[in-house]
Amino acid sequence: MQQIKYDHIVVRFGELSTKGKNKKDFVNRLLENIRLTLKDLGNLNYEKAHDRLYIYLNDTDEEMVIARLKNVFGISSFSLAFKLEKDMDVIKAEALNIAQKTQANTFKIFTKRSDKTFHKTSDEINRDVATVILRNTNLKVDVKNPELKIYVEIRVHHAYIMSEIIKGANGYPVGVAGKAMMMLSGGIDSPVAAYLMMKRGVKIECIHFASSPYTSQQALDKVLKLAEIVAKYQGSIKVHIVPFTNLQLAIYQNVHESYCITLMRRMMYRLAQGLALKNKCLILASGESIGQVASQTLESMSVINAAITMPMVRPLATFDKTEIIDLSKKIETYETSILPFEDCCTIFTPKNPVTKPKLDRVEYFETRFDYQSLIAEAIAQTETRYIHCGNNENELF
Ligand code: ATP
Ligand code: MG
Repeated sequence: MQQIKYDHIVVRFGELSTKGKNKKDFVNRLLENIRLTLKDLGNLNYEKAHDRLYIYLNDTDEEMVIARLKNVFGISSFSLAFKLEKDMDVIKAEALNIAQKTQANTFKIFTKRSDKTFHKTSDEINRDVATVILRNTNLKVDVKNPELKIYVEIRVHHAYIMSEIIKGANGYPVGVAGKAMMMLSGGIDSPVAAYLMMKRGVKIECIHFASSPYTSQQALDKVLKLAEIVAKYQGSIKVHIVPFTNLQLAIYQNVHESYCITLMRRMMYRLAQGLALKNKCLILASGESIGQVASQTLESMSVINAAITMPMVRPLATFDKTEIIDLSKKIETYETSILPFEDCCTIFTPKNPVTKPKLDRVEYFETRFDYQSLIAEAIAQTETRYIHCGNNENELF
């Protein structure tokens, strides 16, 4: 079978998110993100319409383009297409060309006419195009379950013809909603939360608390690998690695064992807020889920949250663990997340952490050591890495 060499890709975006000024920002950001995602693939040209983007392929390998577009948030669907003159003979010839190169036995034509001045209606176009295919091939029409669908679109300046609608990643273009500081551990939850944040159009930077020498280089490598896997949704990700050991040791020397986790998490939140402010992030995000562990009861969350003023978004707050695992398999972080290397929490975990911590006790424990200096020190010693997704070295903004 001969391959069809399409010359364009038509990119469609969701209607929900495309109103007023937001729509302009949405489309501009989406175009920019697509441009950067595909930058190294070849000499592509772009055209913007009010409800579409067109990519002119210029002989670029379409498989690579398709694979990358599937990870761009803000795209509802896209199709390989031919851009044609608005001439029925040209349209019929191209539809026949597609039909002749297919292995399908049945087909159906779907026409959409946004240019209402065009001299034929959608029904007439459907019929004319189908007639040519019926006369010149062995294909039969099947209106219910066609094996080959041919889409014809009559726009103002051109016609487009395409044979497959490929699902996009949906969501909003990354960056359109600003930036968050994402707390990334080596676990299952936080990479999934990172993915969901980006899907809402939020660009993320990651913060990771490392407890060297109690945690290994492998534990850190695992976190960086997870960052690399999710980096494909925004091109690259900054990971801030915060040395957390001194704070943890101070907590364990000064705080009742049952309150160690509560204090540790308040310190994490403070560090995340400090780095968020430094890096122009508007909010924080984590992989916390209500009730999953002692530090994620509503009482714990409320006492821990009281340490900061910045909003903390928890995309997984209401998810079941099984739902989180399903998503982590889908985004391919699961296999890395379940590698056995310990992160800082698991090593310093006390046997009986309090599930209903009291704020006054927490505040008393925090008077027993100079945590502000330790926080300032940890922020000063933070190391920032730039993680790029696989073969694409482009940062999206
Ligand atoms: P995960 O599966 O993501 O590790 P978890 O269920 O193990 O989450 P916790 O260890 O209590 O839960 O952590 C809750 C959240 O706190 C994590 O999802 C992550 O956002 C953040 N977090 C925990 N440990 C770290 C760490 N070492 N560095 C950065 N963030 C962390
Ligand atoms: Mg964890």
